[in-house]
Parts: sequence; C-alpha cells; structure tokens
Amino acid sequence: MLPWVVRRTGLPLLSLRCVDCRSRSATVGEGRFRVNANGKLLDVWLLVRCVSCDRTSKLTLHDRAPVRSFDPVELDGYHANDPELVASRLVDPLLARRNRFTLDWKGVWRLDTPSAWLDQAWPVQVEVTFQDPVPVRPDRLIARELGLSRNEVLRRVKCEIPLHRPTSTGFTFMVIAAD
Ligand SMILES: [Zn+2]
Repeated sequence: MLPWVVRRTGLPLLSLRCVDCRSRSATVGEGRFRVNANGKLLDVWLLVRCVSCDRTSKLTLHDRAPVRSFDPVELDGYHANDPELVASRLVDPLLARRNRFTLDWKGVWRLDTPSAWLDQAWPVQVEVTFQDPVPVRPDRLIARELGLSRNEVLRRVKCEIPLHRPTSTGFTFMVIAAD
C-alpha cells in the first residue's frame, strides 16, 4: 500500500465577513492570542485581521473558563503565541463552527507521495492520511496526482468513500490497470 500524506504548509485564510468593509477574507497573520484574566476566570481569543482594511477582531477560544481547568502547557502556549497552538486552534472545526467561518486552504497544503509509483504492479493500492484537516476532493486529488482524466478516475479508481465529496479523514483507494 502506497502512502500519500496531506499536510499543511502554512496557515489558511479565514472566510469571514468583515463588519467594516464587507471583505470576506481574514488572516491570523503570525498568530496572536489574547488572554484576559478576571479573578479566577480566563477569556482567551485568537486575533484575526481583515486582509483588506486591517480591522482586528477576536475569535473566542475560551469564555470565562476557570484558570485551573487549563493545561499549564496550553496556557503557556497562549501567553507565548506558540505557532503550533495557533495552527491547531485555527484548524479546529469547533472554532470555525462557533465563530461561523470557513477556512480557505488555497496554496497552504501539499500532498507528499512516494516516487515509487511506476514500479508498482497493478492494481495499485494507496492509503491517504491527513497530517492536518485539509478538506480535499478525492477525485481531484487522484486525478491531479496521477495525471488521469475525470473519466479515468471514475473508471479505474475503486474507493470506499464517495470520490466527489470533500474529506479530511483518511481513506484508501485502488487503481486498476488501464485496459
Ligand atoms: Zn475589512
């Protein structure tokens, strides 16, 4: 089984409507959190900036959460604007749902594949895993990577999930020989 790995190469933009200029694109930039203490309660936000007018807004990560409920490493990460923590919070589907945005992954992910493809005997089996939750359409991913037409993908690719529906959950597929 050949491994294909989908991974992030940068931070995706957010499709989020700006209240000032109506632009629909925002960025976390370098990635900054804001932590506000109120007695023993903490608010934590991720700051985002409109790409056209620079207006800053806050996405709620924690709302009046007891200090003691935080993992100390996580809390340090918020204070230090830890890049890994920024990335993991940004791509957490819960945050997107809560703050009503979607992520724009254009240009910030890649597919890593082994180069051994041509040595394989047909049929070839591939396992796709996701290092980061990038939504990809399996048919497009496979067509592009293997240089197949959409029709060839339909004819030659056997897969347990619907090929036209975006997914960010691992899956396997099989490619049969051209006839
Ligand atoms: Zn704006």
